[in-house]
Amino acid sequence: MDIYLYNTLTRKKEKFNPIDEKEIRMYSCGPTVYYFAHIGNLRAYLFMDNLRRVLKYNGYKLKHAMNITDVGHLESDADEGEDKMLKAAKRENKNPYEIAEFYTQKFMEDLEKLNISKPEIICKATEHIKDMEEYVKKIIENGYAYETKDTIYFDTSKLDKYGVLSNINVNEQKAGARVEFDKNKKNVTDFAIWIKAPENHIMKWDTFWGKCYPGWHLECSAMGRKYLGELFDIHTGGIDHIPIHHENEIAQSKGYSGHIPANYWMHCEFLLIDGGKMSKSLNNLYTISDLEEKGYSALDFRMFNFTSHYRNKINFTWDSLEAAKTARSRLKEGVKKHKEGNENISEDIIRNYENKFLEAINDDLNMPQAMSVVWDIVRQNNKSKRYYDLLIKFDKVLGLELDKEEELDIPEEVKELINKRKIARDNKNWEESDKLRDEISNNGYIVKDTKDGMEILKK
Ligand code: AMP
Ligand code: ZN
Repeated sequence: MDIYLYNTLTRKKEKFNPIDEKEIRMYSCGPTVYYFAHIGNLRAYLFMDNLRRVLKYNGYKLKHAMNITDVGHLESDADEGEDKMLKAAKRENKNPYEIAEFYTQKFMEDLEKLNISKPEIICKATEHIKDMEEYVKKIIENGYAYETKDTIYFDTSKLDKYGVLSNINVNEQKAGARVEFDKNKKNVTDFAIWIKAPENHIMKWDTFWGKCYPGWHLECSAMGRKYLGELFDIHTGGIDHIPIHHENEIAQSKGYSGHIPANYWMHCEFLLIDGGKMSKSLNNLYTISDLEEKGYSALDFRMFNFTSHYRNKINFTWDSLEAAKTARSRLKEGVKKHKEGNENISEDIIRNYENKFLEAINDDLNMPQAMSVVWDIVRQNNKSKRYYDLLIKFDKVLGLELDKEEELDIPEEVKELINKRKIARDNKNWEESDKLRDEISNNGYIVKDTKDGMEILKK
């Protein structure tokens, strides 16, 4: 079945035609590792994972690279503000390498908890300075850059068009209107690709232009080319990447090789909190640990993300996370119900569900639609192992670990009640056993007596 993806470049949903039928080459802009990832950031990586899983479900092999930005870049994408890594280093009294190491590790732990399948290639900017240097040299050689006293700028006026993704009208952007404009820059959209490091700058390297550090956008262009070639299939990121970071990546590639580096550009919309933006001042930059502290698992957050299409905003509230948690638990119960079933379901019915699911995911990753197919199966009264097998197959895309028993974090007092109930039952004291069941229930847990013993569920 054909796959359709929304391409920001053409502003259309397009049939996906890979360059190489056997292996898809894809690049995702990764995190800047100066702090814990918040749940908004993680939505972007859940989207990336969703895309990976859908492509794999369709039988493709992947060669997927994601960068780790461990070189400091400035607060805003447009080369202004404070260096984020340096700021973090000062805050935590560590050097930038220690900061990067620590938060990269934390980011990887978050991916693991969210069951995000990792890209085949994870590449750190600091380990590719030479590749970036070579890249800049070629851009200069090709005539797409100019030097000022302390910066090599990309000259956007040399391009046939700058702003192909966001359709920017460059003439309407007045110098100095919004951003502080370096008077040495020739055009407002020009951006730094190589920068002379001031004396006290910590992250700097010996290069053809003295002690320098790279402009932020460069790492993605250089590493994308290195691992995926001059032209690859898909490039992903968050929507905030469209107007500057990805425009600049495209500009650099045009300066280097003459063309746009990827055929399909896909962007994930933002996650909002209580209908608004996340911010430090509102104290609502939640991390996975914050969710765990309130009794939610990372997979509840994963489930929550399926309630909205990746190109729509999603609004996070604690109530909606609670609803996702309940839904996930019901889903797992439904899967279990079918596991034991022996009703005979026809091949046609199974194939029909399979097609509907595939149609949904291949329609630009329509997960809310795919989930409605899943619920339809879960709700079927005829219990069937065939349904179970189908749901487990769909879980390759969902990544919800539908068949995995989760250890309940049962509080000590409830454990004690469970033990007492077991003793009561061994002594055939049914009255006491029922009383204890009610007490356990009042504490938020359900006891089921099965042929293998007691099963404890969260209410
Ligand atoms: P950063 O580490 O700041 O480069 O951001 C990592 C990723 O998170 C980028 O792909 C951003 O587009 C994405 N991102 C940042 N804030 C949000 C948000 N509120 N919702 C969804 N994605 C976000
Ligand atoms: Zn990037």
